[in-house]
Amino acid sequence: MNESGKGLYEKVKNKIEASQEEGTLEKQFGDFWKFACVIKTRQHDLRYLYDDTSREFVDKNRDNLIEMREEFVKNMDAYVEKCINIMRKKNFTVHYAKTNEQAQKIFMEELGDARIIYKSKSNEAKDIGIIDVLKENGISIKETDLGDVLVQLFDYKLPSFQVGPGAHFTEEEIAKKIKEVYGVELEPKAQAIVNYFRSTYRKELLNDVKISLTSANAISAEDGTIVLGENEGNISLITRATDKHIVVCGITKIVPTIFDAILVTKLQSRINNVSFNYISLISGPSNTSDIQGTSVQGMYGAKEVVVILVDDWRTKAVNENLIYADFLKCIGCKSCIYPCTASRAFGNIYASKYGLGATAIIRDYIHNGIEAAVNDGLFLCTGCENCYHWCPVSINCGEILKNMKKEATEKGLAPPYLEQYKEKIFKDKNPFL
Ligand code: SF4
Ligand code: SF4
Repeated sequence: MNESGKGLYEKVKNKIEASQEEGTLEKQFGDFWKFACVIKTRQHDLRYLYDDTSREFVDKNRDNLIEMREEFVKNMDAYVEKCINIMRKKNFTVHYAKTNEQAQKIFMEELGDARIIYKSKSNEAKDIGIIDVLKENGISIKETDLGDVLVQLFDYKLPSFQVGPGAHFTEEEIAKKIKEVYGVELEPKAQAIVNYFRSTYRKELLNDVKISLTSANAISAEDGTIVLGENEGNISLITRATDKHIVVCGITKIVPTIFDAILVTKLQSRINNVSFNYISLISGPSNTSDIQGTSVQGMYGAKEVVVILVDDWRTKAVNENLIYADFLKCIGCKSCIYPCTASRAFGNIYASKYGLGATAIIRDYIHNGIEAAVNDGLFLCTGCENCYHWCPVSINCGEILKNMKKEATEKGLAPPYLEQYKEKIFKDKNPFL
């Protein structure tokens, strides 16, 4: 891509106009998303399952969280080394990849001859480019979280929200799609749809998964435990009933202790108002010593757990104090998305292939540069800093985006009307004349 501000401005404008067309899935997503943002923001102040609200929970833990994330970032190398050492002692197969490209190569080697992979919770794998490589190599990717299964069923390619990516499809549309794809007539009710997948897909997840892919909610450096939260049970199935479970994530998923890892996971569920009905703590492959004390790997669960920890931009961001260095503290909770004025107004137009909102646009900038970020709607950001005020670790995404806008402006990528404003300010000392 090598575009001017005018060209990129037109592209974003066209995407916004297309998203307003009645009867399209884009419009359906936008309407759903605005509603979801309001509801989710309000839910922060409700006492529902707990004695405290999510806002109170965050406030109570904020100082600890910030201290813990800052401690990790300051001593990142030491924590990574500690984590890898302990994981190897616990019979994990651990790889450290300096770059995304290295991680992709390692992943393909671990995959061997397998042509099919079952996955869940894999935003990190997308970030690291694993999903693109799997597609390029013709590997069949089977989603297992129902939301992702629906996205795959509808062949929906636009950015969607990572928590509930298929939530904008109606019961009628899903039933119709199932009839079209599988030839099965279902009552257009959520329960009937769930029953259908339980009676069909669940058997496959129990019997046929040879290789599964997940990320991690967090990994504890003190004991090398991988923490994975979910509510459907799909992660439990594909990480247990498999030969090989491959975990791919950035090194920033590491936290100092197991208590920190659980706190981070708990926070992710509280903020999104989803209940993690299952939290898995994976401390190594399946093992038994029941035959004369001989330790044998691969009893009922995964025979092998492979962990690929990826650095790529992370160490460089600290060492060179890059504009997104603060983003290393991110725990991926998505709290910054619901109150974001740009995200509420523009839904999946203010987004990248990594998801919705500021964090997804920052990721695109890190991997693909400033033009990609402008194309994602960088200049739709109003600078309101709601993201900063709602972030449990006080990352100021608004500030990062401000610096990105500065770079875009210097490279002539700002929308033309901003250039006119600038000229008027310099000439007339007033942008509105
Ligand atoms: S500063 Fe930008 S990214 Fe942050 S909440 Fe406001 S509009 Fe969204
Ligand atoms: S930047 Fe957003 S996703 Fe990351 S920790 Fe802050 S609120 Fe959560």
